[in-house]
Amino acid sequence: MSTIPVIIIGAGPVGLSASIALSRQGIRNIVIEKHPGTAVHPKARGVNVRTMELCRIWGAEQQIRQLELPVTARRFLWMNHVKGEIQGDVSFITEQEEISPTEPCLLSQDIFEQELLACLKTQKNSQVYFNTKLINIEQDDQFVYCELENLIDNTRTKIRCQYLVTADGANSFVRKKLSINMKGIPFLGTHVSVYCETDLSPWLSDKPFAVMAFTDKEQMDCIIMAVDLKRRWIFSKRMANANETLTKEAGIQLVRATADEPELAVNVINIFKWEMAALNAEQYRHGRIFLCGDAAHRIPPTGGMGMNTGIGDAHNLAWKIAYVIQGYADETLLDSYEQERKPLAQTTIDWSVVNANRLHAIFQSLIDGNNNAFHDGLNEQTNHINHLGLDVGFIYQSNALCPENADIPTFNPNTYKNKAIVGMRAPHCWFSYNNRTISTIDLFERNYVLLAGENCIVEKLKLPIPEQYPKTTLVIGKDLHILDSDYYACYQLTKEQAILVRPDGHIAWIS
Ligand SMILES: Cc1cc2nc3c(=O)[nH]c(=O)nc-3n(C[C@H](O)[C@H](O)[C@H](O)COP(=O)(O)OP(=O)(O)OC[C@H]3O[C@@H](n4cnc5c(N)ncnc54)[C@H](O)[C@@H]3O)c2cc1C
Repeated sequence: MSTIPVIIIGAGPVGLSASIALSRQGIRNIVIEKHPGTAVHPKARGVNVRTMELCRIWGAEQQIRQLELPVTARRFLWMNHVKGEIQGDVSFITEQEEISPTEPCLLSQDIFEQELLACLKTQKNSQVYFNTKLINIEQDDQFVYCELENLIDNTRTKIRCQYLVTADGANSFVRKKLSINMKGIPFLGTHVSVYCETDLSPWLSDKPFAVMAFTDKEQMDCIIMAVDLKRRWIFSKRMANANETLTKEAGIQLVRATADEPELAVNVINIFKWEMAALNAEQYRHGRIFLCGDAAHRIPPTGGMGMNTGIGDAHNLAWKIAYVIQGYADETLLDSYEQERKPLAQTTIDWSVVNANRLHAIFQSLIDGNNNAFHDGLNEQTNHINHLGLDVGFIYQSNALCPENADIPTFNPNTYKNKAIVGMRAPHCWFSYNNRTISTIDLFERNYVLLAGENCIVEKLKLPIPEQYPKTTLVIGKDLHILDSDYYACYQLTKEQAILVRPDGHIAWIS
């Protein structure tokens, strides 16, 4: 039986990200995907600023930027109907220069996955097997044993790995096989998304948007999500009956009725039925198996955080698995994955439920004809669109930080302020390093980085990490030269202080 260090189940955005991140840590891995390629149906379109920072580190940012929807589309638009007037415009905050070297992006999930796959193919330690399904799994204290079926010729093979990362989606086969329960709200509604090609330009070409909702009562059960803002759109309808779906013909009728164009040419590409739920797995780790992404948490899409959170899971886990496989850390480091990611997912789930309830209240205010409540709802909806706290301001508590259980300030999902806090992502500042302009974000990937102020006596520091951890020391003013932003003010540190940053860019310790 062949052995591979890590097997990843699922080539969705999370599985692909796990593979890239592991590969860049020098860990050989394979991705197993039952479909012939990446996803056809573009569920997500909101790629948040932290995910874009990771894409920057992985060398994929520039290509993704070329494909994103225009900045003017970063808004949730309320219209009375497709041919009507704008009733409300809730926009994304776009100015984030002080917070990040990059910014969020709007790009449909199908294209984003293709870009992740292209990035993965440039990594020497990654390989994807499409048309291959995981059909059985077992583990002992040394290996995880996977039985795979080739869906082209129906042959079966067994392969084993040291660790298995399962990113096999909301209905995770692995999670069920391990009898890991999900806790939360199992059902928040059934929706059907009609992904189609049609020409809405006569009415919408001058109104770019990410999501369009309607204020007219007859149109309210449908929203439109822009895919390419030209010909590809998703019309998503909340179904009154959970068992109901839409046929292709009914999908065409939905599009025509929403556009109020009985003869509109519509080509349905795909129909996707999905259930909204707010669930978090009771365990993210089972022996040598780790749950990531939708397999670990089902986050309502009201806020656009499911994929982003899942990619964050993958990034958090990859360096830890690498450190254990490479012999730097012992197995207990892996416990910090669940300690850090599960509470964050729960906060994100709760916040997304609040967004869903707010949307519901906005629709109710329209049904009731309560204009004030409608406008109050729209004012508050900015909290649904802007979530810098969840993106970059969350703070971990775990055994991979020092101190482990500091009295951490509670963070606000919607707001963020630069500051160095143990457990939080190290803030962004511009530096000159080896004659290149870089962000602090670019410094962290494989090693722990000791970032020392210019008056810090590095030799006297007692670092709270094992001696053998790979470590780079960078002294401000010597190795790194501050550019326009003031590092000390941004981090709220003195010139005598130093911070230790983990490979995932989170602060492990402050002197
Ligand atoms: C309408 C809508 C809008 C959304 N908008 C956003 C947004 O703007 N931003 C955001 O961050 N998130 C958004 N999301 C959520 C996002 O789409 C998901 O969170 C994301 O797809 C999860 O990625 P994943 O890789 O964990 O799982 P998936 O994308 O579900 O991928 C799992 C993969 O595993 C494969 N697989 C499953 N079982 C097996 C097996 N036994 N063997 C081999 N392969 C297997 C599947 O074929 C699939 O390819 C939205 C969701 C919806 C429904």
